[in-house]
Amino acid sequence: MLGKGSKLYSVFRLKCPRCHEGNLFENNSLLSWSNFSQMKDQCPVCQQLYEPEPGYYYGAMFVSYALTTGPTLGIVALMMLFSDEITTWMFVGALVLALVLFLPAIFKLSRSIWINIFISYDPTAAATPQARGH
Ligand SMILES: [Zn+2]
Repeated sequence: MLGKGSKLYSVFRLKCPRCHEGNLFENNSLLSWSNFSQMKDQCPVCQQLYEPEPGYYYGAMFVSYALTTGPTLGIVALMMLFSDEITTWMFVGALVLALVLFLPAIFKLSRSIWINIFISYDPTAAATPQARGH
């Protein structure tokens, strides 16, 4: 299921959605803060454009909201183990902590999920590089 050719492979390995070989980001590590927002312009293997149109990743914001919810609720659940009452400020603290810890991963995964919604795997793409928007 997580092999090459599956969407999950491309999403979690941060690979090109078309050929599943080229990296999406300059720094393709999920938890690293170094240059985490630096995305490549196109796939170095099949030439797929990673930003086919301006503003392509606005929609990825909604994916990142969803991805932020998981770690935040996880931290709140942990706090509930040690405290009888969760205050608003504790909840805000959990949100900030989740963002600080997981921002690079949330940023990269939401873009990776977003581009994978629109571009499908093409097993022949790596052999026939060609600049394509979609
Ligand atoms: Zn590619």
